[in-house]
Amino acid sequence: MNIYLDYNGTTPVDPAVRDEMLPFLGDLYGNPSSTHWAGQAAREAIDGGREQLASLIGGDSEEIVFTGCGSESDNLAIKGTLWSCCQQDLTKAHVITSAVEHPAIINCCTFLEKLGVDFTYLDVDRDGMISADQVEAAITDRTILISLMLANNETGVIFPIEEISRLTRSHGILLHTDAVQAVGKIPVDVNELGVDLLSLSGHKFYAPKGLGALWVRPGVNLEPLIHGGGQERGRRSGTEAVPNIVAVGKAASLLEPESLAKEVKRQAKLRDDLETELTEKLQRVIFHGSRVERLPNTTNFSLPGIDGESLRMHLDLQGIAVSTSSACASRGGKGSQVLRAMGVSEAEVQSAIRVSLGRWTTDAEIRQFIDILVEAAEALWRISPL
Ligand code: PLP
Repeated sequence: MNIYLDYNGTTPVDPAVRDEMLPFLGDLYGNPSSTHWAGQAAREAIDGGREQLASLIGGDSEEIVFTGCGSESDNLAIKGTLWSCCQQDLTKAHVITSAVEHPAIINCCTFLEKLGVDFTYLDVDRDGMISADQVEAAITDRTILISLMLANNETGVIFPIEEISRLTRSHGILLHTDAVQAVGKIPVDVNELGVDLLSLSGHKFYAPKGLGALWVRPGVNLEPLIHGGGQERGRRSGTEAVPNIVAVGKAASLLEPESLAKEVKRQAKLRDDLETELTEKLQRVIFHGSRVERLPNTTNFSLPGIDGESLRMHLDLQGIAVSTSSACASRGGKGSQVLRAMGVSEAEVQSAIRVSLGRWTTDAEIRQFIDILVEAAEALWRISPL
C-alpha cells in the first residue's frame, strides 16, 4: 500500500473538485470571451470560481488575477510592480526579500538583478525565522517592494507578515506575500495580513496543477507579463483555463473556516505525535523550524550520519513518498538551500527529510511510516561510515 506524505509537493485532486470540473471538459467547452450561449456559460462559471476563491482569502472577486501557476503569480507580483513603477530606470529600485524564498522568487530576483535592480536578501535565524526589526533595518529610501513568503515550503515556518505589513504601510512600500504553501493549510485573510499582493496555487489545495492566482489590492499598479486579448482586466492575457478555475473555486469552497480549523487541529496532532515518537524511537533526530510558529502539516528533520536521499529512496521502495527538500530543489539533488540559510550544518542538510501531511493522511499511515522509517534508519546507521 502506498503512503503519500508529500502534500507540500502537491496534493491529490479532491473527488468533489474533479466532479465539479468534469462538465467543463465535456459539453461546457465555451470560450468565456465569446458572447454566445457557450461562451456565457463559461463566463458564469469562471465568475463563480473567482468569487469562491476571493471569499477564501477575504478579498473581492475583481481583485483576483488568474495565472498558470504559483510561480507565474510570484513573477507577476515582482516584475509587474517593478516594471510599472520603475520602467524608466530599474536601477533606482530596491527590493527586500529573504534567503529562504521559493525558487520562483529567488530566480526571478536573480534575473532582475542582472537588469540593475538592487536586492536585499534577509538572513533567517537558526529557526528559519525573520523579524520585523530586521525588515525595518533593511528599508532604504529606494525600497519600493518587499516580498516575503507566508509559510516556508520546506520547514513550514510562518513569517510575521501581519507585523511586517504595519511597517510597509507606514513607509508606503508595497508588500507581496508568497502564500502558495499557506492557502488551504491555515486561515489566510488578505486584510488581516495587510498585504498588497498575495500569490497562491491551486494544486497545493486539492485542485489540479495548472492554475495559480495573484490577489492584488485595489490601486496597486501592475504591468502584465503576458500581453494579448486583455483577459483578467488586462493583467494576464490568454483564454482562461475554465475547468481549472471551476476546480479552484470548488477547492476553495471546501475550506470553509470550520472544516479548515478541524483539519488544522487533526494534522497538527498527527504531526506532533509523529515527532514525539521519532524522538523516542530514534537514537538521534534533529527537527528544523519546530520551535517557532509553523504549518500544522509539516515536519523537517535530519538523521545525522544517514544520507537523506538514500533514506528517501529506501522509503520510496516501500511505497512511502516523502521528500528531501522542495520538489524543485530535489530535482537538482543539491540539498536544501533553506536549511543552509538557517545555518544547519552540511551533514545535517544532507540527511534532511521533509514530511508533509494532508487531507487523507491517517493515523494508521503515520504509525506504519514510523515503523518503516525507524527500521530503515537503523539499517542505514549500521552501514554508515559516519
Ligand atoms: N511558492 C512556494 C512557497 C511554493 O512552495 C511553490 C511550489 O512548491 C511555488 C511558489 C510555485 O508554485 P507552482 O508549483 O504552482 O508554480
